[in-house]
Amino acid sequence: MTHIDQYLKDNADRFEEQLCDFLRIPSISADPAHKPDMLQAAQWVESQLRHMDLTTEIIPTAGHPLVYAESPEVPGAPTVLVYGHYDVQPVEPLELWITPPFEPARRDGNLVARGATDDKGQVLTHILGAQSVLAADGRLPVRLKYLIEGEEEVGSASLETFLATNAARVACDCVVISDGCKFSREIPAINYGLRGIAYFEIRVQGPNRDLHSGSFGGSVTNPATTLARILAAIVDRRGKVLIPGFYDDVLPLSERERRQFAALPFDEAQYFADIGVTGATGEEGYTTLERRWARPTFDVCGIWGGYQGEGAKTVLPAKAGAKFSFRLVPNQSPAKIAAALKQWLPDVTPPGVTVELIEFHGAPGVIVPLDSPYVEAAARAVEHAFGRSPVYSREGGSIPIVTTFYETLKADVLLLGWGQDDDNTHSPNEKFSLVDFHRGIKASARLLQELGQIHKG
Ligand SMILES: [Zn+2]
Repeated sequence: MTHIDQYLKDNADRFEEQLCDFLRIPSISADPAHKPDMLQAAQWVESQLRHMDLTTEIIPTAGHPLVYAESPEVPGAPTVLVYGHYDVQPVEPLELWITPPFEPARRDGNLVARGATDDKGQVLTHILGAQSVLAADGRLPVRLKYLIEGEEEVGSASLETFLATNAARVACDCVVISDGCKFSREIPAINYGLRGIAYFEIRVQGPNRDLHSGSFGGSVTNPATTLARILAAIVDRRGKVLIPGFYDDVLPLSERERRQFAALPFDEAQYFADIGVTGATGEEGYTTLERRWARPTFDVCGIWGGYQGEGAKTVLPAKAGAKFSFRLVPNQSPAKIAAALKQWLPDVTPPGVTVELIEFHGAPGVIVPLDSPYVEAAARAVEHAFGRSPVYSREGGSIPIVTTFYETLKADVLLLGWGQDDDNTHSPNEKFSLVDFHRGIKASARLLQELGQIHKG
């Protein structure tokens, strides 16, 4: 048995006790009554890192404090930033918890408590992983930085502000985040891409008041009909967005990625059955997983206009509107998509109405090349700890803080979730499998050793 395996074995009980200590702190970021608990949780994290001889700091913010720590530079080796959060979701409805949310309980091989998997258990794997390497090898093989925030569940506003002015301080070669799930119970995953988003509202204004559809219909441009036409003109029946320039910057899927996706144990019939549909449409020429993860899309999110009440009312509405979004893929710029949309709208706007476009949030997609040495190191570490090589997956949604890291630090972001999708995150009886907790610590330790083999020129 290697030093580190022996150490992990000898300390397994202590690791679990430490996680229980962390879980007993009711650090609910959304509830002002828990402000003292937030500070206590930050101090708890800071003390773990201080005991590893890292330089640590609790950074006050307008909201909850940030915990920052770093180790000395290791010449020739990369710098690795671990991000996570010590805050948790509220616990209501309390009556559905089998045991109290802040009294960690062992059940069916799990530790059950609020924050068990999201994200205290997963954050702690990266602290204990480094502790284990230090104890077994006597030194850290890379420069480590930790940035653990207390506002992830309420929007990360203070972290965004901090990163805007402290990019140099937290500069790194790769960011490690464990705040999610494996592909399935026994199949670990490396998530290497997120889609971006561009979100809009459109308002179509016609006559100065609702009109009688008998007296005026046919002689006046109908805003609701016009809205329907405009929305329908954005995408065709084959799932192609028709706005000129929309696909110009799209990063196409590589053959390797398409093979990876096709090899995943994804049950399409079950996927449709779960959401209660018998089939679907989407962009022609792409599989369901490709459509979800790696192709840009257009979706109407809400639509309104005219009479919505009981029975019939013969009205020609004065206005109509909709909210819609494009999911973007890596290399597409939300600003460019907004500009293309604005330029195209007059072409589809008939006389008799005015069209107003309101721009909401936008975020670009994120991608880490599969042949990045950091991804390869992570794959070896995960395989070592979980006993099988990870699958490479992407996520169809956006994670704003990941986008911020990617854009501000220009670093590869490794999303290594140790959880399971039935862990009840944000719900009663949140849990984290103890097997996964220990495998996560082992993976984290091996990851640091693997990353230490990467030579920086
Ligand atoms: Zn989380």
